[in-house]
Amino acid sequence: MRKPLVAGNWKMNMTRATGQALVAELSGLPAAVEVVVCPPFTLLAEIAAHCPAGVSTGGQDCFWVPNGAFTGQISAEMLDDAGARYGIVGHSETRGRFGKLDIDAGDVGYFAETNTTVRRKMEALMRVGLVPILCVGETLAEREAGRTEDVIREQLEGAFQGFTEGDMAKTVVAYEPVWAIGTGQTCAADEANRVCAFIRQWFPAGVQNQVRVLYGGSVKAENAAELFGQSDIDGGLVGGASLDAAGFRRIVEAAAP
Ligand code: PEP
Repeated sequence: MRKPLVAGNWKMNMTRATGQALVAELSGLPAAVEVVVCPPFTLLAEIAAHCPAGVSTGGQDCFWVPNGAFTGQISAEMLDDAGARYGIVGHSETRGRFGKLDIDAGDVGYFAETNTTVRRKMEALMRVGLVPILCVGETLAEREAGRTEDVIREQLEGAFQGFTEGDMAKTVVAYEPVWAIGTGQTCAADEANRVCAFIRQWFPAGVQNQVRVLYGGSVKAENAAELFGQSDIDGGLVGGASLDAAGFRRIVEAAAP
């Protein structure tokens, strides 16, 4: 039986004061749901130290080398040292699109992440015992071109190349259609479930029942129960709605079996 997981991605939001106040309001969440908050790096150690029982922390990204001359980067070892237990990898805001970046034209992949760098980050997290939350998903143009499954297959093949079945089973995959992130445009629950099932079935048979597959993209208190009630959706990766304690609590409660 897979334990439901709800992870909040705070992105570039929150201060020490507001972050602490938010997690202080997250006590007493249902024990049947694993809850993770992913603050900015600067808050990670502090939030990890102040999380109520049942809530753990994750990083939003990492670099794959343990330490060295890599200005501006944070390694998996540093996430571990700060108290994190999870790490988001391959978010659409860190991936690159089509090898070029045009922010003025609305590109969302600001940091030129490729499937290869995603894999290195996955390996780095596993090296220190952190659980990767791998984000995969198609853009609107890719969906309209009928390429959703192809794009996701490529992302999975890239991220898990060389992984043993045992290591695959320890990871979490979040299906995050790029067109649904931060737009208020949620993927219909049955369609989200169909793609999550496709992701699950990509794994070897022995892994399929163990790997947790989340949905992310404009999850809110109002739509969480329908999404989490689907057979192949094991919880959610929540951006904007994780910044409000009351709303996030309702989302977590919606994931309880
Ligand atoms: C995300 O950034 O992972 C996300 C799902 O954002 P939002 O919930 O705001 O769409």
